[in-house]
Amino acid sequence: MLDPVYPGCDAARFFLNFADILDMTELNTKQGQRMGQTALEVAEEAREQEWRLPSFVGELFLGNFRSELVFPFPEQRKEDRKKGDEICAEVSTFLKEHLDPDEVDRTGEIPKKVIDGLAKLGCFGMKVPAEYGGLELSQVNYSRVCHLVASYCASTAVWLSAHQSIGVPQPLMLFGTEEQKRKYLPRFAKGEISAFALTEPDVGSDPANMSTQAAPTEDGNYYLVNGEKLWCTNGPVASVIVVMAQTPPKIVGGREKKQITAFIVETNAKGVEVVHRCRFMGLHGIQNGLLRFTNVRVPKENILLGLGQGLKLALVTLNTGRLTMPAAVTGGAKWCLAVVRKWANKRHQWGKPIGHHEAVAAKIAQMTSTTFAMDSVTWLACALADRKDVDIRLEAAMAKLFCTEACWRISDATLQIRGGRGYETADSLKGRGEEGIAVERVMRDARINTIIEGTSQIMRLFIAREALDPHVRRISPLLDPKRNMFEKLKLLSGFILHYSSWLPKQWLSAPFTKGAEQVPQELKRHVTFVSRMSRCLARNLFISMLFYQRGLEKKQRLLARLVNTGTELFAMTATCSRAALLVSKNPADQSPIELADLFCRDASRRAERQIRSLFFNHDAFAYRIARKMLEGRYQWVEEGIIPPG
Ligand SMILES: Cc1cc2nc3c(=O)[nH]c(=O)nc-3n(C[C@H](O)[C@H](O)[C@H](O)COP(=O)(O)OP(=O)(O)OC[C@H]3O[C@@H](n4cnc5c(N)ncnc54)[C@H](O)[C@@H]3O)c2cc1C
Repeated sequence: MLDPVYPGCDAARFFLNFADILDMTELNTKQGQRMGQTALEVAEEAREQEWRLPSFVGELFLGNFRSELVFPFPEQRKEDRKKGDEICAEVSTFLKEHLDPDEVDRTGEIPKKVIDGLAKLGCFGMKVPAEYGGLELSQVNYSRVCHLVASYCASTAVWLSAHQSIGVPQPLMLFGTEEQKRKYLPRFAKGEISAFALTEPDVGSDPANMSTQAAPTEDGNYYLVNGEKLWCTNGPVASVIVVMAQTPPKIVGGREKKQITAFIVETNAKGVEVVHRCRFMGLHGIQNGLLRFTNVRVPKENILLGLGQGLKLALVTLNTGRLTMPAAVTGGAKWCLAVVRKWANKRHQWGKPIGHHEAVAAKIAQMTSTTFAMDSVTWLACALADRKDVDIRLEAAMAKLFCTEACWRISDATLQIRGGRGYETADSLKGRGEEGIAVERVMRDARINTIIEGTSQIMRLFIAREALDPHVRRISPLLDPKRNMFEKLKLLSGFILHYSSWLPKQWLSAPFTKGAEQVPQELKRHVTFVSRMSRCLARNLFISMLFYQRGLEKKQRLLARLVNTGTELFAMTATCSRAALLVSKNPADQSPIELADLFCRDASRRAERQIRSLFFNHDAFAYRIARKMLEGRYQWVEEGIIPPG
């Protein structure tokens, strides 16, 4: 039976000859080299290892709905949960007693006693193994603490996260030598703070082009670091920073290859300077700065992972480091729900609670089901990370993309539902005798999350690159100049054999998948949808490759639609799996099914819309307009204002 999900034009597009397929492999050869400095190729560096189990999302993009990887929803072990409950309870009590988030927002400072108190509770060594004095929390428990803290004070959560998700402990635990671990990890467990310095004034999303240099001294025992790092969170208060810098290039195959190396830098070293503390729209309590390094002598023993491995280290660190973000923003979204539940009941207009007016009710329903989906995606990705044998790069990137964008929409809806009070500061509300609910602060704090640790646009490119990778890997050996004709013919026959069976399968309806049988009846159609749609996604991805060949790299909106579809499918799966688990544990409460059902109804419509506009759109027209706008040809639209600057 032909798949009814997408009746579009993809079959017509498929009539491309094999010469085109060979041409396309250049995506990974000539053109790949040309794109060397772009974000797309940077993703290559993030490959860590071979995993025992594949990525669930990666398989979705190949048309395989591997339900057994995510069903049943992974439950936290009892002892692990208990450990998490204890630390969360301690942190919660401490913060409520000692920290006023509105004061942090007003003064721009987190009181020292709060940082010291959190350090005493072990919060700066949460993931550090016990043998080095840390709490040795699992990824789930560490994320639970960040989720809790972020729901109360986002600035405080950022102090913890910048130090532990991307700061020195994380790369040190992943790649440090035993000597390095013994030297630094106990210091963090005691409360010292670290930071991660990658961004520079001229490089953000494309860090491969950084200009900070680290030149070896004559005796080769030290490196002299020179350069500036921008927006380094915790930088002004850190005692140790992981700094990425260019070391002398290597000659590979007769050509110069850039080397980026990661160094552990002590901030009390001569030549380290905080030039400026940066201030932002939100997150007023964070310590973030422009740092300057002038001839800073760093011993060669402080290189992490090895010369030339810095970019890989940064990106692999972010693979799991990025998981803190969905946990934190889900905490923020839950806080918004609590505000809306109270206010939309209490506030009456036109004779009834505002939550009973349909326009407001629709927002409330969507916020609730989306928060349930955010929670499901977050804890699924964290639990998969704790397994350590599954490739989670795509899941982590999707969790970051999905949750940060959803949180921004939810904070916006919350502000709208609070009306004028949503826009008023907590101090002002209190000043005239009302409850100081700081929705505007939460919204300001939430805005940065779609930018830091990989912007949404870069996340989509990263995910698209990874989704294409299995195809590119199959094709590229065919163009390898080192292989002889005989080898190539052998590879070619394997290639044809593979695609002649793989491709037709992508048009056939997938059966209801094994492993997902325990899904409640009401949700089965959604799981079937995901399974069918994954084939539609796989064939459209493949066809896009064939059709656009080298131009695909530039088709960012097409790639974004494919990634957005995959993200909806992942979120639907996580949501159905978690609802199934919750209902199996407490059959008396069917509410998880209702929330999953609503989320999936909305998400499946969004996914279908994305697929429908893959090849039917006006992207090229819009692109031309944007270019003309940048050339100043629509400047007349700006008439009548006092221009910026
Ligand atoms: C509060 C805060 C905290 C931070 N903390 C740290 C930290 O601790 N350590 C650190 O190293 N950095 C940190 N950063 C930097 C942060 O990671 C960067 O801001 C982020 O990577 C984006 O870089 P950029 O701002 O230079 O934007 P740019 O890279 O200049 O991008 C600008 C816009 O263009 C888009 N864009 C760029 N390239 C492409 C492309 N190829 N295709 C499509 N769109 C593209 C982006 O998505 C974005 O919308 C922090 C920043 C802030 C504001």
